[in-house]
Amino acid sequence: MTMTKTSLPAHMKCVVLLGVDFDGPCHEVGRGIAPLGIHSWGRYSAKRGVPRHLDMCQRLGVPCTFFVPGYDAELYPEVVKSIDRNGCEVAAHGYLHEAWDMEGEEEERLLRKTDDILSNLLSKPVLGWRSPSGRKSAKTMQVLRSMGYIYDSSDKDYDLPYRWRFTNAAGESDTIIELPNNTYSLDDFPFYKFSYTPPSEVLDQWLAEFDAIYNGDRFFVLTVHPRSGWGSGTPSRTQVFEEVIRHIQKYEGVHFFSSAEFARWCQQNPELLEEVANV
Ligand SMILES: [Zn+2]
Repeated sequence: MTMTKTSLPAHMKCVVLLGVDFDGPCHEVGRGIAPLGIHSWGRYSAKRGVPRHLDMCQRLGVPCTFFVPGYDAELYPEVVKSIDRNGCEVAAHGYLHEAWDMEGEEEERLLRKTDDILSNLLSKPVLGWRSPSGRKSAKTMQVLRSMGYIYDSSDKDYDLPYRWRFTNAAGESDTIIELPNNTYSLDDFPFYKFSYTPPSEVLDQWLAEFDAIYNGDRFFVLTVHPRSGWGSGTPSRTQVFEEVIRHIQKYEGVHFFSSAEFARWCQQNPELLEEVANV
């Protein structure tokens, strides 16, 4: 640690980042499973979950970042374009949702492949990345920075954003904004995949987390998936997502950002951000 803890300005009572990890059929295909029958729930993301979440964000007037795997963008280009057209951010999330450790060259090839797919589809640069399944190597940040990415939202090591300083591929000192995401208490996956927690209890958990964070570190990052199965794409689970947002909107001084907008804010306010070197 080279600087003091990140401190958000007083008028920002709480920063809220909403993330939807697309996780379509790539999730199965990357594991060698045909995305058919019981394994077809990734298709639900494209057909029902993403449109439902987009509609909800529009109704509530909140920004959201959709982290999209390259393979899914190839399958559903119009769905991915609709995310952008509706004012939400599209960020990268692996090619085949790589949940395996990769050699450096394979990792870099797939990061660049997905970046090409998304940036060509949207005719704009991609600015951020979230690791599928949390996998990352010592080289990942170097590749992301060389593609112009300004943030990563993968690490689980802190409750606040920070700036990570590292040596880039050109051998120079460089930084990237880290937006840590808490994939246990603020992610639908463990509740619906492992503990089969009823949606009403998931809602209680997320409201309690928000209230604690609002009175604590004031940085709230919620991750959901638009799938059926273990995701939040289905109606009652989307309702949980919506009720959390409606609850948050009642609080004074809450600032909703897309991840890229907030990473830009972090870049523009360097003195407020903790800097971490060589984590
Ligand atoms: Zn994912």
